[in-house]
Amino acid sequence: MSISENLNKIKATLPENVKLVAVSKFKPNSDLLEAYEAGQKDFGENYVQELVQKAEDLPKDINWHFIGHLQSNKVKYIAPFVHLIHSVDSLKLLKEINKQAQNNNRIIDCLLQIHIAEEETKTGLSQNEFLQILEENILNEPPNVNVIGVMGMSTFTDDKNQVKQEFKSLNESFLAAKNLKPELKEVSMGMSGDYLLAIQEGSTMVRIGSTIFGSR
Ligand SMILES: *Cc1c(COP(=O)(O)O)cnc(C)c1O
Repeated sequence: MSISENLNKIKATLPENVKLVAVSKFKPNSDLLEAYEAGQKDFGENYVQELVQKAEDLPKDINWHFIGHLQSNKVKYIAPFVHLIHSVDSLKLLKEINKQAQNNNRIIDCLLQIHIAEEETKTGLSQNEFLQILEENILNEPPNVNVIGVMGMSTFTDDKNQVKQEFKSLNESFLAAKNLKPELKEVSMGMSGDYLLAIQEGSTMVRIGSTIFGSR
């Protein structure tokens, strides 16, 4: 099947309130353009250099989502144009995003990434760190970052029940955080293998790569 057929098939399964981020890491510009021409405007990338190059080469009305681990010293490269950073996993990083957003006269939307998987390798904040950062962010109101929700990645496993519990816990963190900051609105969870489950558990944003573009 073609990229546009894959996209349409996925879109037909998404409720209206769920946004599709097409994850295009390692894929050539021609693949992204095919998705773009089929109406896809939101793309997710994991690597700063790759993202900067693609943003330069591709249409300017694309919304670029940064979804990979972000080092503080690289924020400056994406700050001029990034649409949403999904993977904020420290206060230090949030402060750097604020600083670079100020330098660019922008307000950058961010999600706080929470650790929900059992694997140690998947990064993210613990429940406590998450609430601390959120409280600090609300109290000190860094003026140029806007935390609008949470992001998480489930364990890579066939155990659907485990994945479901992990998504449930992320949504619970989101709901608890909404008590502190009612404007929170996004729950970024769900990838090719588990996005339908994620939607059942409250996802508002799914990040799908291989089901659209083929395996990497
Ligand atoms: C690669 C990646 C995805 C997409 O994964 P697929 O299984 O190809 O859909 C989603 N989220 C993050 C953070 C990723 O790194």
